[in-house]
Amino acid sequence: VGRHPGSLVAVPVLGVAVAALLAALLIAAATGATTGVHALAADTPLRLLEWIAEQCARVPLGHGYLASSTVLALLAATAAALVLRRVLHEGGAFGARRPAVAPHDEVDGMELPAAARRRAARARLAVALAGAVVVAAWAPHVVRLRGGDVVIHAIDVGQGDAFAIRTPRGRWVVVDAGPRTARSDAGRDRVVPFLLKQGARRIDALILTHPDADHIGGAAAVLDAFDVALVIDPGLPAGKDMFIDLLATARRGGQRWIAGRAGIEFRIDDVAFHVLYPLHELDGSAGANDLSVVFRLEYGGFGALFLGDAPSAVEDQLVARHGGRLRAAVLKVGHHGSATSTSESLLNATRPEIALVSAGRRNRYGHPAPVVLRRLERHGVRVLRTDELGHITVRATRSGAVEARAR
Ligand SMILES: [Zn+2]
Repeated sequence: VGRHPGSLVAVPVLGVAVAALLAALLIAAATGATTGVHALAADTPLRLLEWIAEQCARVPLGHGYLASSTVLALLAATAAALVLRRVLHEGGAFGARRPAVAPHDEVDGMELPAAARRRAARARLAVALAGAVVVAAWAPHVVRLRGGDVVIHAIDVGQGDAFAIRTPRGRWVVVDAGPRTARSDAGRDRVVPFLLKQGARRIDALILTHPDADHIGGAAAVLDAFDVALVIDPGLPAGKDMFIDLLATARRGGQRWIAGRAGIEFRIDDVAFHVLYPLHELDGSAGANDLSVVFRLEYGGFGALFLGDAPSAVEDQLVARHGGRLRAAVLKVGHHGSATSTSESLLNATRPEIALVSAGRRNRYGHPAPVVLRRLERHGVRVLRTDELGHITVRATRSGAVEARAR
C-alpha cells in the first residue's frame, strides 16, 4: 500500500493486467470472438502479480492466517475498504506525509478544515481496524510460544476421531481428521478452523490410523489447508472412493506418504512418536480396524497411547510384545470405547490416569460401551468423553504431570 516498495512494482503490474483483461472482454463483446487470444495479454502481468504476492508473503510477518470467522472477515473487509478509499483520495495511505489538517491555501479554499479532520479521523480508524485484524491474526501465534508442555486436543468431531498434538515449541501432529458425509465435513468445519485459531502454520505429521470414513473423512480438508510434511497410514490397499480421493489430493500436493509400521520412530521437538502397530506383514484378511496404526507418544516422563480403532486382539499382541513399556498416563481408547476394545490386560499394562473417548452424542453404535466404562472405573481411570464434554484439552509436563480440561 502507498509507498511500500512491493506496491511500486505491483500497482503498475495490476494496472496492466486489469487493462489487458478489460480490453480482451471488450474485444470479445464487440466481435463475438472468443477471448482466449486477447486474454493472453493479461496472462503475463497476472502471473507476475501472483509471483510478487508470493514473494511478499514469504517475508517474515509478511502474511498471517485468519480463521474463517465472520467478525474477522467483516473487520478485514472494512479496513481494506477504508485503506483503499484513503489511497484513492490521497495517493498513499501510510506513506503519505501530508499534514492531516490541510492548510487552506493547499486546497484552494475548496475544502474546510473540518472535512480534512474527518478524513484524517477516518484514516486513523482504517489504521486501527487494520491493526486489530493483524493482532487478531497473530495473537494465537504469540500465545503458543509460551508453553513448554505437550498438549493433546481431542477435537469434538461427533462420531469419529480427530486429535491434534501440540509439541512444546508449537509444532503440530494431527491424528485422524473426523468424519465426512455428503452434508458435512468435520475436517473443514472443525479440525482446520481449530488449528488455524491455534495459529498452526504447518502440520509436521498427519497420522491416519486407518482408512474408515470417520477417521479419514476430514483429511482432504487438512491437506488442502496446511502444508503437511508427512502422512502416515497403514498402507492398506483400500478401494473405497473416499480413500482414493484422498490419495489423489495428496498426489496433487506432492505429499510425502509412508506406511506406518512397528519400529518407525520420529521426534518433533522433544516429543517422540513410536509406531507399535501394524507389524511388518499385513494380514490380507484383516479388516481396517485390525490394522489401525497404533503409536505411543513419549515426552520425558509422560506417555500416551493412541489405539485408533484397534480391537482387543491387537491390544493383546501389543501387551505380549511390550508389556509394561506401554505405560501411558493418557490412553486414547480403541474404537470409540466399543466393547471390542480396552481389555483388562491393556489396562494392566498401561495403567492410565485418563482415558480419552471420542464419540458422537447419542450415537447409534452405543459408544462407549457400558462394559468398557465399568472396566475403566474399576481401574480408577478418569474417563473424558467428547460426546459429553465437547473439546477436551490434556496438558502434560516433561515430569509427567497431567492436567485436563474441557470447554
Ligand atoms: Zn472409528
